Amino acid sequence: MNMSQCLRPRSIFSNTSRTIAVWVGLAALTAAAASGGQSRHINAQRLQGNLEKLSEFGRNPEGGVTRLGFSQTEMDARTYVMDLMKEAGLQVRVDAAGNIFGRRAGTAQLPTLLFGSHIDSVPHGGSFDGSVGTLGAIEVIRTLNDGRVTTRHPLEVVVWTNEEGPHFGISALGSGVAAGVLGPEILDRKDEEGLTLADWLRRYGQDPAHLTDARIARGTLAAILELHIEQGPQLYETKVQIGVVQGIVGLKRWKCIATGFANHAGTTPMNRRKDALAAAAKDLLAVRDVVREEPGRQVGTVGYMKAEPGAPNVIPGRVEFPVELRDLDAATIERMWQHIQQRFAQTDKEEGVETRCAVINDIAPALSDPSVQSVIREAARSTGLSTADMPSGAVHDAGEISRLAPMGMIFVPSRDGISHAPQEFSAWDDVANGTEVLYRSILKLDKQMNAR
Ligand SMILES: [Zn+2]
Repeated sequence: MNMSQCLRPRSIFSNTSRTIAVWVGLAALTAAAASGGQSRHINAQRLQGNLEKLSEFGRNPEGGVTRLGFSQTEMDARTYVMDLMKEAGLQVRVDAAGNIFGRRAGTAQLPTLLFGSHIDSVPHGGSFDGSVGTLGAIEVIRTLNDGRVTTRHPLEVVVWTNEEGPHFGISALGSGVAAGVLGPEILDRKDEEGLTLADWLRRYGQDPAHLTDARIARGTLAAILELHIEQGPQLYETKVQIGVVQGIVGLKRWKCIATGFANHAGTTPMNRRKDALAAAAKDLLAVRDVVREEPGRQVGTVGYMKAEPGAPNVIPGRVEFPVELRDLDAATIERMWQHIQQRFAQTDKEEGVETRCAVINDIAPALSDPSVQSVIREAARSTGLSTADMPSGAVHDAGEISRLAPMGMIFVPSRDGISHAPQEFSAWDDVANGTEVLYRSILKLDKQMNAR
C-alpha cells in the first residue's frame, strides 16, 4: 500500500467521505509508525507482472532467457521497457551508445540521481539478472507518481547497453562508453555474422560517429544506484534480506607460459624430464593454496591449460595457462601475486622448467561511496529488513559510473546462489524488498545530498 496516497483524500469523495478518508490515512500512519514504518510503498504485484512480461522476450524452453545485447530479441525488449518508461511519465531518450534514459524533473537545479541496470543476458541466462534493477527502477518512479512525491534532484532511470558482452566480447559496454573508458576503438569489433558494432548501433538508430557524445560529464550526476540480484550464495544461505555492496572487486589476469622440453614419453627416464605440464599442475595448486591461505573473500582461478604438443606419447614441452585474481583491495591482489610468483620459481627449480607471466588485464576495484552505503543500510532498516555488507565478485555497470559519481548497490538474495543459468531465481518478496530499499534510498539521497 502507498501511504501518502492513502493520506490524500480522492477528489471523487464527498465532504463527509473526505473526513473518513483522512481518518483512515491517519490510522494507517499510526499503524506504520507502530511497526517501525515497515509497510512497503512500492507495488509488488505490479512489479512482478512487469518482470514476468519482460521474461517472455527471449524465453528458453528450459526456463530463463537468451537475450543477447544487440539482438532482435533484445531490441523488442527495449521497446517494451521504453513503453513502460513513457507510461510512467518519463521523458525518454537514447544516447549514442544505445543507453536508454528516462527523466523525471526535479524541483531544483541540481545534478541527477541516476539508477537502473541492464536487460541483456548471457546465452541461456536467467530472467532476474539486470531485469530486477531495471524494472525496479521504473517501479520506484511509478510509486513516486502514485504518491505525487516530488524530488529536488532530477531522477533518471537508465538501461545500459550490452552489460554482459558475449556478442562483441565487451562487458559493460554502454556504461563503459558513458564513463569514458571505452571509445571509438570498439566500433570495428565484428560479431559472428561479420557485422560491426557500428552496424548494430545504426540498427539502434544511432550514428556511430557520435559515440563519444554518450560520455557523461563529470558533475552532472549526484549519485548512481543499482539494484541487482546477488548472483552468489551469501544472502540466501545466511537468510539476510539485503546486501549493501561495499564495492565491485578488482581483477587482474596474467598469461603464463611454462617452458620445459618435449621428449619421448617412453624412452625418457623420470628423473631426466622437463615436464611443463607437471610444473603447470603444481602452479595451479599453488594459486589455490596462496589464495586460501589468508582470511577474506579473495578468489583466484586458473581457467584452462593448453599443453603442447599435446600427444599421449610426448612429454609436454610448453604449457600456456592464465591466472586470475579478484579482490576488493588491489594491495591484496598484489601481495597474493608476490607469493604465487615465489611458489612458481620454486616449482621451476624442482621441475627444470621456466615459467614466465605477463599481465593481460587489470581492472581496479570500484568502491561504493560510504555515505551512499549508510543511506542504503538505513533505508533497509527503516523497512525492517536485515542487511549484510559484502563485495560484488561480478562486474556491474555501476562500477564504471563510480568513476564519475558516488556509487551504491543493493543486492537481493539469489536462490542457491545460482545465476547466469535458467535456474536463476529470486523470491518475489525479496525483489519487492530490494525495490522498496531503492525507493527509500533515492528519497533519502534526495534529501541529504546538496542540502543547503
Ligand atoms: Zn547483471
